Amino acid sequence: MTKGTINVAVENIFPLIKKFLYSDHEIFLRELISNATDATLKLKHLASIGEATGDFDQSKIEIIIDEKKKQLKIIDQGIGMTEDEVKKYINEIAFSGAEEFLDKYKEKGNDPGIIGHFGLGFYSAFMVADKVEIISKSFKEGSEAIHWSCDGSPNYSVKKSKKTDRGTEIILNISEDSTEFLEKSRIESLLTKYNKFMPIPIKFGTKEESKTIGEGKDAKEEKTTVDNIVNNPNPAWTKKPADLEVDDYKKFYHELYPMQFEEPLFNIHLNVDYPFNLTGILYFPKLSNNLDAQKDRIQLYQNQVFVTDNVEGIVPDFLQMLRGVIDSPDIPLNVSRSYLQADGAVKKIAGYITKKVADKFASLHKNNREDFEAKWNDIKVIIEYGMLSESKFYDKAKDFALYPTVDDAYFTFDELKDKIKDQQTDKDGSLIVLYASDKDKQHSYILDAKAKGYEVILLDSPIVSHLIQKLESENEKTRFTRVDADHIENLINKEETKISKLSDEEQGKLKTIIEGIVPKETYTVQLESLDSTSNPFIITQPEFMRRMKEMSATGGGGIMMGMGNMPEMYNLVVNTNNNLMDKILKAKGNKDKYVNQALDLAKLSQNLLKGEALTNFIKRSFELMK
Ligand code: ADP
Repeated sequence: MTKGTINVAVENIFPLIKKFLYSDHEIFLRELISNATDATLKLKHLASIGEATGDFDQSKIEIIIDEKKKQLKIIDQGIGMTEDEVKKYINEIAFSGAEEFLDKYKEKGNDPGIIGHFGLGFYSAFMVADKVEIISKSFKEGSEAIHWSCDGSPNYSVKKSKKTDRGTEIILNISEDSTEFLEKSRIESLLTKYNKFMPIPIKFGTKEESKTIGEGKDAKEEKTTVDNIVNNPNPAWTKKPADLEVDDYKKFYHELYPMQFEEPLFNIHLNVDYPFNLTGILYFPKLSNNLDAQKDRIQLYQNQVFVTDNVEGIVPDFLQMLRGVIDSPDIPLNVSRSYLQADGAVKKIAGYITKKVADKFASLHKNNREDFEAKWNDIKVIIEYGMLSESKFYDKAKDFALYPTVDDAYFTFDELKDKIKDQQTDKDGSLIVLYASDKDKQHSYILDAKAKGYEVILLDSPIVSHLIQKLESENEKTRFTRVDADHIENLINKEETKISKLSDEEQGKLKTIIEGIVPKETYTVQLESLDSTSNPFIITQPEFMRRMKEMSATGGGGIMMGMGNMPEMYNLVVNTNNNLMDKILKAKGNKDKYVNQALDLAKLSQNLLKGEALTNFIKRSFELMK
């Protein structure tokens, strides 16, 4: 046996690693399995170029818990290491690698993001073990097996080993404060989290399989014990799109999210190798108006090793609601998030993903419009959010984003403009787009608009006021007005002379009477000469005020700040040509009864009549019937 001292300032590293990386202790297993995978892939590669002989197709990695000895073992059938190689790769490289990593880590401080992922390698074993042993035999002909052990201090020992087959066995003597890693369920969940799609089969224990032998009445169930392989070494994203069917994508979705029972709407297969390497599959889940469906997230991998499911900065914000996998060796990992966002390759990746998503929508829209329309309500939030946040996405989306009417006809914005330009251009030449946000609440207004031959579109997603604002600024002489923003005659102003039955003097009197009765702080009285058959009182809410309030409520800065708290204000449109006005003017004592009754009816049609006001209204209505 030889003893030696490792030639780096390792005394300082060990306690620091325990302290700094406390929350990330569990990554040791991923690191060691990554090393085992690399060693196996290297051997396969050497065989493929004729520098190693043997059949390595069955190579696997085995994880064993020895509860009695308090050991966890990671065993591979890879290239192995000679004594010299252990000295070089472990004593020097692994230890100095750990030192370097720690320096970086101390510099970057408390960034809880991606930092801590990767970079620590073999040394991370000491986060959970008092003593680490390596038993290894190199694949090289005639090499002797060795047994190295070390307690994390600079002292180590090497002796001969009886190991006969090639490969490496890492033995972790688990420390007192890390016994959780001797529990089967803990290891199982770590393997599922980090190693589910690693490229070499990972065996963890055995399982029973039953097979039917023979036929008919001679058939017998036979039970055999087989290796329990916990990973899928060939996940869908590593395959060529041409080799996958629709069902393969669906199957992979459920493999990725076993608790997810709904089918995804569609998927995008990502595959680039220049100017960066990236593969992956993105899925569009059914979202509808559910903005906080954030449990199953996009997972980031590096060469099939799970890194994180926080892809902030790598995937554009508006696509954070998607699901799936991104695998790229080109994303720098042990850096802070702000550095990550400034990184050129990462910026290109975000741009690429945005483009692929836009192209997918464009092609669905073009090639299968019916299907695209059917799925619109489930994807609109993502598209609308993207149009608001990424100008490059907006430029493409403006041609495929849809605007459904209240009668379920779907138009692109250009189609819509074309359809309404004759009927809905006002006297100043502005195109007025009428919309509703709720078919039930705005029922009577929608009906009035349709009777005029207008199209009413339905815009009901939560960020729609911001989108409207954006569309108005991108399209000259185009204005959006909600159907209940004014009386139908005023929604689209078309320079028709309106004749009032009342004289100017009578109008003045009427206004004073009504203003004296309705609450001033809520209603602005607005006299209009409408058709005599139109309702006497109509409550409207001006577009501008309402929209600013909505934008403020859904996160708009600047002038909208604080508007969300403003009280509701309405216009009370009074139809001077309705016969009721005569009655109000001529009535001796009951003026307020008429006004209040008409106001309550107008409120009722807007769903604004509640509580005591509703009770009073019903009482008054019965009295009036007498
Ligand atoms: P990294 O993997 O980033 O190079 P590590 O500290 O994890 O750093 O490992 C250092 C080196 O030790 C590896 O580069 C590899 O050459 C060698 N090594 C580690 N584990 C194994 C293994 N299971 N089989 C063969 N070589 C290994």
